[in-house]
Amino acid sequence: MGILEVENLYYKYPDGTEALNGINFKAEKGEMVALLGPNGAGKSTLFLHFNGILKPYKGNVLVKGKPIKYNSKSLLEVRKTVGIVFQNSDDQLFAPTVKQDVAFGPLNLGLSKEEVEKRVKEALKAVGMEQFENKPPHHLSGGQKKRVAIAGILAMEPEVIVLDEPTAGLDPIGASHIMKLLYNLNKKGITIIISTHDVDLVPIYANKVYIMSEGQIIKEGEPKVVFNDSEIIRKANLRLPRVAHLIEILNREDNVPIKMGYTIGEVRRNLKKYFEGHCDIE
Ligand code: ADP
Repeated sequence: MGILEVENLYYKYPDGTEALNGINFKAEKGEMVALLGPNGAGKSTLFLHFNGILKPYKGNVLVKGKPIKYNSKSLLEVRKTVGIVFQNSDDQLFAPTVKQDVAFGPLNLGLSKEEVEKRVKEALKAVGMEQFENKPPHHLSGGQKKRVAIAGILAMEPEVIVLDEPTAGLDPIGASHIMKLLYNLNKKGITIIISTHDVDLVPIYANKVYIMSEGQIIKEGEPKVVFNDSEIIRKANLRLPRVAHLIEILNREDNVPIKMGYTIGEVRRNLKKYFEGHCDIE
């Protein structure tokens, strides 16, 4: 049983756009799953089903094996388990200070003042934003806003965090910091599901990848299985990670038979193996 599962999901927007056409998706507890696909594929629409913000006209969303019922009791239960970080942090942050923003969710759960304070402190510490607690969110940088939005979700102590393009609009270091933060949260046992266009970061952090196109899942598997399918990668307007592209060119253009790899670490090991005895790479 997955912690979050979607069975044969169909969704149509009121204007008639068929955004999801029979989606099957599963995240196991403790996984870090990446959802890739071109703009308009339906990634955000699918994510909005994960905690019941949108209701499908056909199919089921199951949280810890239980189908979402779309009544207030079921939705409250689901939202305690699954937290969503929206793509645009300004859609998520609205309180006058960082601290008040992070406290908003836990206060709505009806927790005691002491418990709320404890959760806010812990969440801000986890994302490295404790020194900003009295700042207005709109004075923060993009990466800092993203951290505060993540803290707001963390303070709800969810088991699953879903993030719609968490690195979009961030500089390379900011993007890498957010991915490391998510990696650390994942190591603590939180299931992480992200959508992204950042193919270089996916094989480093995700253990499972789904590729979406025109409201359907067109491929799923470990990163190396998915990236190995060049036809699918092209269909989804994606590209290989840069290091994998280099190996592909060496294989194809230069007849250098280095084994394919998708991260710097993997490619480095494969290069060392190839060059063993010929040169020293320390
Ligand atoms: P992605 O997140 O992969 O870019 P979306 O889920 O945002 O894709 O969009 C999927 C499809 O649904 C697109 O064709 C998009 O134009 C359409 N869509 C998204 N939001 C709405 C909406 N509020 N009303 C009508 N159509 C929408």
